[in-house]
Amino acid sequence: MKVAVFSTRPYDRFFLEKANKAFGHELTFYEPHLTFETISLAAGFPAICVFVNDRLDARTLVRLHEIGTDIIALRCAGFNNLDLDIASTLGMQVVRVPAYSPHAVAEHTVGLLLAVNRKFHRAFNRVREGNFALDGLLGFELHGKTVGIVGTGKIGAVVARILKGFGCELLGYDVMRNPECEALGLQYVELPELFRRADIISLHCPLTPQTHHLIDAEAIALMKKGVVLINTSRGGLIDTRAVIRGLKSGKIGYLGLDVYEEEEDLFFEDHSEQVIQDDVFARLLTFPNVLITAHQAFFTETALTRIAETTLQNLADLEAGRECPNAISPDSLRRQAAA
Ligand code: NAD
Repeated sequence: MKVAVFSTRPYDRFFLEKANKAFGHELTFYEPHLTFETISLAAGFPAICVFVNDRLDARTLVRLHEIGTDIIALRCAGFNNLDLDIASTLGMQVVRVPAYSPHAVAEHTVGLLLAVNRKFHRAFNRVREGNFALDGLLGFELHGKTVGIVGTGKIGAVVARILKGFGCELLGYDVMRNPECEALGLQYVELPELFRRADIISLHCPLTPQTHHLIDAEAIALMKKGVVLINTSRGGLIDTRAVIRGLKSGKIGYLGLDVYEEEEDLFFEDHSEQVIQDDVFARLLTFPNVLITAHQAFFTETALTRIAETTLQNLADLEAGRECPNAISPDSLRRQAAA
């Protein structure tokens, strides 16, 4: 199948080309994001392959449909950047990679937690400058701490398993209970109770209208003083301005982020020669107790290989007219929710 691949970085091209030896799709790689303004690059392609910061809003989908591009292969799990109702109304086919390696994201989550707590980011710089003093590097032990996991699906469950190994108490909130988490001793509670009881809060639910700004001023007010907040899910789960106020007051003691609500114009690019125009993000960078990675939790060899293979298999399924297990539509989501 002829596929226009958007938001291509060199590693995307490497893993997709390697996996494509088994499929033989005609892949054309474009660096820009897919937006309404870059749609013309998709002309002549029945399919596009997109990533987390490509914007598939209603007007972009309508225009894509008009130019004959009706297959959308997301090379990621989340689909908050796509208007699924409109895509379905237009008869477009949407496929994604629902699971490629929950371990990649879960291990990065725990890495952020350890690093921000034990201050690896500061220790690294100090030691390189010949400063071996420990003042200001005091951490706490995870053993015996209460962790609140919001979203106990594939990634949340692996985080729960790892932190159980550290000797943490596990609390969880989800719209559906996961028996695997319950077997670990995770106790499901309502969100306000999780906010009140957790020493560490880690977010692993999708970004939806219901979860947008789940962490806002009201939620922060309920939390313990000095709470650790980790978000490797989607930036929009957090009201960043409210979190900055929480950091300034000391209510939030540590913040580890792999995602940011306005990351689209920042992440996955080298901006080191430019002045950052986003004042909210720039403020976040000034806190000594904030550690940010640029949406890299998924970024392992295993994950990129599986993403490439699944994406190309999804496209092969659609090309052959086979039912694709990774197709998503409003109906399939409703069926999943009811199951
Ligand atoms: P999953 O579908 O297995 O789990 C998500 C869980 O969230 C499910 O159990 C679901 O019931 C729950 N949920 C849905 N709505 C909820 C709500 N309103 N409140 C609480 N829980 C709710 O997905 P996953 O594979 O575990 O991925 C979780 C998220 O991680 C994805 O949505 C994606 O945004 C993010 N992600 C980030 C990266 C990264 O590189 N940083 C990579 C992959 C996925």
